[in-house]
Amino acid sequence: MDETKVLDLLNKVKVLQEKAYVPYSNFRVAAIVGLKDNKETLGVNIENAAFPATICAERTALAQAITLGYKKDDVDFLFLITDSKSLGSPCGVCRQFMVETMPLDAKVYMSNCNTKELKDIKIVTVADLLPFAFMCESLKGNEK
Ligand SMILES: [Zn+2]
Repeated sequence: MDETKVLDLLNKVKVLQEKAYVPYSNFRVAAIVGLKDNKETLGVNIENAAFPATICAERTALAQAITLGYKKDDVDFLFLITDSKSLGSPCGVCRQFMVETMPLDAKVYMSNCNTKELKDIKIVTVADLLPFAFMCESLKGNEK
């Protein structure tokens, strides 16, 4: 992805971050999922007084892609921003969700409240985030 597009995404995800529903933590997260047909789905974290009902921005955006009929191989990248002063990478639940809904070689762009330029954005793959992932194939093996 060229630098201009990455910086455009950074600006867009920062605006999106304001839509997070975070009355308990005030920790805003936003994600943009880029699809191979150049469309995008958007997600913010949405908290709930019953805390397990809270959903992260990454899963919100990926669930939207699936709901619209996109498949795993249609996903090109995920661009993430958090209020963290450090890296602010996806949580464990989202990593597990990502290995099942994104190609393992799809890029994940991670930014935070200090990100101003390209060099501040950490870029990894889905596989980097969850080595030795438990996947669909992992459920097979004991059937006769
Ligand atoms: Zn998460």
